[in-house]
Parts: sequence; C-alpha cells; structure tokens
Amino acid sequence: MVITRYDLSRTELADLLEGEPNYRVDQVWEGLHSQHRDPADLTNIPKKLRSAIESLLPAALTPLREVSADNGTTIKNLWQLSDGHLIESVLMHYRDRSTVCVSSQAGCAMACSFCATGQVGFDRHLTTGEIVEQVIRASQHSVDKRVSNVVFMGMGEPLANFDNVWSAIERINTDIGIGARKITVSTVGIIPGIERLSQQKLPVSLAVSLHSANDKTRNHLAPINRTYPLRKLAECLQNYKRARNRRISFEWAMMSEVNDTDEAARELAAFARPLNAHVNLIPLNPTPGYATSPSGPEAIVHFRDLLDSFGVNTTIRSNRGTDIDAACGQLRAEQAVAFSKRPKR
Ligand code: SAH
Repeated sequence: MVITRYDLSRTELADLLEGEPNYRVDQVWEGLHSQHRDPADLTNIPKKLRSAIESLLPAALTPLREVSADNGTTIKNLWQLSDGHLIESVLMHYRDRSTVCVSSQAGCAMACSFCATGQVGFDRHLTTGEIVEQVIRASQHSVDKRVSNVVFMGMGEPLANFDNVWSAIERINTDIGIGARKITVSTVGIIPGIERLSQQKLPVSLAVSLHSANDKTRNHLAPINRTYPLRKLAECLQNYKRARNRRISFEWAMMSEVNDTDEAARELAAFARPLNAHVNLIPLNPTPGYATSPSGPEAIVHFRDLLDSFGVNTTIRSNRGTDIDAACGQLRAEQAVAFSKRPKR
C-alpha cells in the first residue's frame, strides 16, 4: 500500500524529515492539517523541501467527478484511490453548519439490501490517511464556510474498520480542530465496535442505522442483524448510554409498506423509548438493486406524528443529492457501469 500525505503521525513525519529542525516539522504538520494546504502551497518552507514532501507524500485521492445539487449546497465527489478503487464523499452546507460525509471503506461487506454500496460488496478498508484527506479536501472546497461536522455515513461500515477510523477521528479532532461531539459515527449495529467506542476518551456522537425494530424485517434489510439481533443491540446500547451519558440517534430510511406502518412505529417506539433515543426519518433513496418504493411525504409525516404521540423525539431529514441521482453510493455505481460499457480493445 502506498503511504500517502495524511497517513503519517506527527512523529513519523518528523522521522521522514530527519535532520530538519522541529519548527520546520511543525510548519509542515500545521500547513497540511490546520491550514489544509497542499505541499506545493507551503510557501513558508524552502522550495527544495516542499518538492521533497510532494514526491515522498503523494495525495491519496484523485478527483474523478464532482457534481453539485440542491442549488450548490450539496457537493458530491467521486475519488479514485491509489490502487484504483473508487469512493465518495459529500459536502453539505446548511444555514448553521457545514458537514462532510466521509467513507470508511471502499465498498461494504454488510450487504444491506436497500443500500447501493451494500449491493456491490466489499473491496477494502480505507487507511487513516484516506479518511483524513476526505475531510481536508472538503475543507479546501469550503473556504467561506468552515467544515464544522464530520459524519461517517458514506461508504462502508466504520466500526468494521475500527483502528483506522479511530485514528482518523483523533486526527480530525486534534489536528484539524473539529469538536468530538461534531463527529458522528454511524453503524449498522456492530456490537463489539459499539463496546469499543464506549471505552474511548473522545465523546463522539453515535448513530445506529436501525430501519426496523422487528427482527424478521431487519434480518432482511440488514443481514448483520442475524449476528447482532435487536435484543442484544438494545442491551449494548443501554450499556453505551450508561458509560457515555450521551443521546443515541437512530436512522430510519422510510420504505413503503416495509417499515412505515403503524405497527412499525409502535415497535420502534418500544425500542427507542427506554434508550431515550432520537429518531431521524429519511426517505428511502431508490437504488437499482432494491424494488421497494420510498414512503410518500404524507406517510412520513403520519409516521413522525405517531412517534411523537408515543413520546419519541423524531426529525424528518431531507435526503440531499437525490435531484441529480447522486445520493449515497450512486456516483460510484454509475461510474462502474460507464467503465464496464467501455469497448474492449
Ligand atoms: N455502515 C454505516 C454507515 C454508512 S451508510 C451504517 O450502516 O450506518 C449511512 C446511512 O445511509 C445508513 O443509515 C444507511 O442505512 C443509509 N442508507 C443506505 N442506503 C440508503 C438508501 N438507499 N436510502 C436511504 N438511506 C440509505
């Protein structure tokens, strides 16, 4: 594997720049992390050193495509990694914050039936540097509005790549300067990963992609539920809550007749209430491999009202990027089709 710009720790960078005074190492480190600069733009260091850093530490991400949606407030990037794999990240500007949604793996092994990435399968874990660089690239793109939040809701299951994800989180927090609470790890419900998360020092936010509070339905939507069923997940989340004293949120992609019925709302309320969890409802983003339709706007409002009446705190979230078919996983899927349609020579 190629070592890229953000793979090194500060000590490793100092070793690489052996012979340079400490303040130079600081200048390079700060330039790359806090000022989000490319090595070529580190004009405060001698040109020779700049070029040396450029050739020793290549960028991890090569831009392949950039599309913008929602009047320019959503910017989606498709990146190529040094070994050819493709990943996506998305920058979303809101009135009060700018959030970057990052990938933690190329592909995903969780095989959730409705998810474009899950339908394609797993390529490999991302390195710490590949994760950190997604945040840096978003920050470079967002000069007027500082990137304030990071969500691990792009491709991959972050808790299945715990070590690299965690060291990326430490770097994003300490060196890039984004508050721990503004970093959200989203998981399909990997119990050992949630347990490890609860032992870490930084109080990051946790989102669980629940989508159903009924084992039979959830086994079908998220097959990992067979390994980590709802009863065990609830127990694990109770322990997490006790250890961290933080509110957990549940993601619920609204699918017509699958998880938007009154019965589904009752099951969800019974699961969420003892945990005092917050629920985010998102309209399902249609994918080629899953025939179910998204719930309509009235069904979503009805479901929200029902949850409210059961005492569950609920928000309806807009699904960014759908107007250009660029929601979760779709850019890469399109690119793969475009590649496979190329005439063979
Ligand atoms: N593996 C992690 C993070 C990546 S997926 C997880 O499962 O949480 C990020 C979020 O997008 C998850 O909540 C996932 O369930 C949701 N998602 C995936 N495909 C979707 C689709 N087609 N429509 C709506 N949400 C989707």
